[in-house]
Amino acid sequence: MRKPFVGGNWKMNLDAAASRTLADDLARAVATDRLDQACDIAIFPPFVYIRHVHNVLRDRSSSIMLGAQDIWPDPSGAFTGEVSAPMLKDCGVSVVLTGHSERRHVIGESDELINRKTRAALDAGLQVILCIGEKLEERAGGQTDQVNERQLRAGLAGVIPDQLSRLTIAYEPVWAIGTGKNATPADAQDAHTKCRSVLASLFGADAAGRIRIQYGGSVKGSNAAELMTQPDIDGGLIGGASLKAEEFLSIVRAAAAAPSKGR
Ligand code: PEP
Repeated sequence: MRKPFVGGNWKMNLDAAASRTLADDLARAVATDRLDQACDIAIFPPFVYIRHVHNVLRDRSSSIMLGAQDIWPDPSGAFTGEVSAPMLKDCGVSVVLTGHSERRHVIGESDELINRKTRAALDAGLQVILCIGEKLEERAGGQTDQVNERQLRAGLAGVIPDQLSRLTIAYEPVWAIGTGKNATPADAQDAHTKCRSVLASLFGADAAGRIRIQYGGSVKGSNAAELMTQPDIDGGLIGGASLKAEEFLSIVRAAAAAPSKGR
């Protein structure tokens, strides 16, 4: 069975105090309602607050995973401003995002760099959420499936079967991120099915059936249930709605309540 997985990507928001408060609110609610029994949960604070959030999660013995929004592929060296896998592990990080649309389209990361980051994180024993998704003009031009396939094949080149249990895919149509427009549940399900077929062609049907595919793009408490009940949607990657504890928790609850998926 694929356990749902919900991640909160805080992006470049909050300060130290607000990061601690949000992490604490989440840790308390997850423990009280035992939400982690039916859903894996991760939060991705800005790099500078990772240590603050780590301390809160440690003090609460929380099962919430600590995530990083980015990673550099080399372990150390002259890469000003960058942060490596050993550094992240040293700070208690267990999962990283690669290929987020803001890094692809605002920062200008290539498929090749995203692949290096993905492999470096997996080689270091970290979990990875590889984000993919088409831009509005690509969708309008009927390119959705080709873009997703290209980003999956390029992003996962060289990934070996032993690493797949630590891999999650996030399908996040770029036009839906932070815009308030989300894909319809049927459109998202269709894209997820096609992504799973690409994964099957890369790694075999059994392995593909075990890989979790999150949906991301303007998910909130009010639309989470209809997305999370789709048969190939295994949780969500949440931006704006992850900054408010109650809103994020309502998405986690929707994912946890969805019917079991996979074999
Ligand atoms: C994201 O940042 O991955 C995201 C999906 O953002 P939002 O939920 O704000 O659309």
